[in-house]
Amino acid sequence: MAPNASDLNGVLFETDAGTPDMALPTPARQQADNRPKQYVWRNIILFAYLHLAALYGGYLFLFSAKWQTDIFAYILYVMSGLGITAGAHRLWAHKSYKAKWPLRVILVIFNTIAFQDSALDWARDHRMHHKYSETDADPHNATRGFFFSHIGWLLVRKHPDLKEKGKGLDLSDLYADPILRFQKKYYLLLMPLACFVMPTLVPVYLWGESWGNAFFVAAMFRYAFILNVTWLVNSAAHKWGDKPYDKSIKPSENMSVALFALGEGFHNYHHTFPWDYKTAELGNNRLNFTTSFINFFGKLGWAYDMKTVSEEIVQNRVKRTGDGTHYLWGWGDSKMPQEDINAAITINPKDD
Ligand SMILES: [Zn+2]
Ligand SMILES: [Zn+2]
Repeated sequence: MAPNASDLNGVLFETDAGTPDMALPTPARQQADNRPKQYVWRNIILFAYLHLAALYGGYLFLFSAKWQTDIFAYILYVMSGLGITAGAHRLWAHKSYKAKWPLRVILVIFNTIAFQDSALDWARDHRMHHKYSETDADPHNATRGFFFSHIGWLLVRKHPDLKEKGKGLDLSDLYADPILRFQKKYYLLLMPLACFVMPTLVPVYLWGESWGNAFFVAAMFRYAFILNVTWLVNSAAHKWGDKPYDKSIKPSENMSVALFALGEGFHNYHHTFPWDYKTAELGNNRLNFTTSFINFFGKLGWAYDMKTVSEEIVQNRVKRTGDGTHYLWGWGDSKMPQEDINAAITINPKDD
């Protein structure tokens, strides 16, 4: 089937929107066929080993490793997380802001530590996830269930729809970047060095950690941890949470996921307005470390052309398609209705 606009099941860029409040002209559908799964045993064995090793690493993290190793593992978690959230996701998949080459180099290094495939491949899968959300052309189609959208999609052969509709996907902007081409070309050399070798050597040589602690804590435990956090955005945040912006789609506002995924859990907002570099409305930055990171580089001038969505468009959308849970941050919020202000009871008022 040739890809065409009527196949779209979600917006990716502003150009996909067909209504003034940035929605598709046709409602999103949810669909999965009953095609039998073809297991990829190599991946099943590798992921099983990774998770066993990570459990052991988690034990060593708590009871055996030096404190320097634990802090180092935490720093690697944040760095590799940002390589996904600020890099592969907000910069490359969504083009929600632009970055000068020094920041792109930093992000591509962080991204390689994360080992979730090259940023180019990650961005390709993710553009499919937004354009064909909750259909068989979505790599981690959440209508197939929690397990499939979490890890199962990596354990079976890809659905033919993904390949077929993927042919129509424009990735020319990504292939135009020599930094991304370099990462993809040398990925099988760079990734093991960044994700496993460097995290093991640093604790051993800089503060005399044992080889076992260094490998299982800073490499395996840290890698599996950020991997599962990323997957929770596809599984938990497509299942549990409020839908203040669009109640017709699965993605939801999930604060726990936002906390661990450095701000990527405001998923109902994100699927409604994917080109917003904040992936959330203003005011959520304390759970949105990635936005603070991009803002910091914005001050340096290395991040620029950050795109966001006007409050008016957000409000129109909330009114038209939201589920009525749109939050107020507290007393004095400009969106607080007058009747709620009048009805509020003040205890121990001070006359002045
Ligand atoms: Zn999603
Ligand atoms: Zn996205």
